[in-house]
Amino acid sequence: MPKVAIVGSGLIGRAWATVFASHGWKTALYDPAPGQGEAAKAHITKNLKELAALGLVKDAKASAANLIVPKDLADALKGCAFVQENGPETVEAKIAIHTEIDTLAPPSAIVVSSTSFLFASLWAKSLKHRNRVFVAHPVNPPHLVPIVELCPSPWTDPKMVEKARAIYEKVGQVPITVKKEVDGFVLNRLQAVLMAEAFDLVGSGVVSPEDLDKTIRDGLGLRWSFMGPFETIELNAPAGIPDYNTRYGPSLTKLTGRDVFTKKNQKAIMAEWPGEQTPERIARLSKWRDGRLAALKAHK
Ligand code: NAD
Repeated sequence: MPKVAIVGSGLIGRAWATVFASHGWKTALYDPAPGQGEAAKAHITKNLKELAALGLVKDAKASAANLIVPKDLADALKGCAFVQENGPETVEAKIAIHTEIDTLAPPSAIVVSSTSFLFASLWAKSLKHRNRVFVAHPVNPPHLVPIVELCPSPWTDPKMVEKARAIYEKVGQVPITVKKEVDGFVLNRLQAVLMAEAFDLVGSGVVSPEDLDKTIRDGLGLRWSFMGPFETIELNAPAGIPDYNTRYGPSLTKLTGRDVFTKKNQKAIMAEWPGEQTPERIARLSKWRDGRLAALKAHK
């Protein structure tokens, strides 16, 4: 049975422990605050029962049996294959914690941080094993929201990121790779733009906060719960994404004041897009989308 060390057992550490323990990993819950490891274990054990009742965890008892409270950090890291750090969100704390992990974890272990905003290059530069260290940013709580943003530093070994992707997929998460260190990674950048516009629209008297929420909940968000923005626009013009950009790019440029709906960016998107923009594909996917929307409407 592989072992994961959860370093920092607060809000996010507990949720990560739930993910790993319920997928058969021996899960060490380390936290320097007195009693925090035991409290985390009790909290997760109760939570696992509730998740099992909802059918989200196969065996609550077996999952809880995978949780261990180590006597110290060295004990937590002993023999582990994976380290998920969830300590305080300051550069000083990340440097202090990772300096210890660097010497105590087995050299083969993958070491990731849940940090929301702090690039690995800010705190991992001087570590001996810095090539195995990077960010794995979850959304709270990761046992219910599967996305995890993997962001390597310039010196992270890409093989470590690939291995972590495979591990996260095995424990039911949805990893994505953020290829460069950018503020907010991907999710918070998208959220920030939306929230900035929401604040402005309400503050400048265009719409009430409740009506703004309806435009997401009963509008954009319906599709976004099962497809992404590129999947969405692919079906919003008869010849797919390039067609959408030709039709709506100029209006979007005017609206956002950002010259990003360019042929160059379109080319970059299409170079990695997994499907030719044929009428057959668009018709097939549109039918699928409508089926999902109908099911969602019926469910609501
Ligand atoms: P938290 O305050 O709930 O937990 C932090 C834990 O770290 C505490 O239990 C604390 O005792 C422990 N700690 C303190 N010093 C430590 C040390 N030297 N070594 C190990 N642990 C130590 O905070 P949180 O919300 O769980 O956030 C943890 C990390 O996850 C942060 O980096 C944060 O940015 C990131 N994160 C948080 C969220 C969120 O919504 N809360 C979402 C994504 C990522």
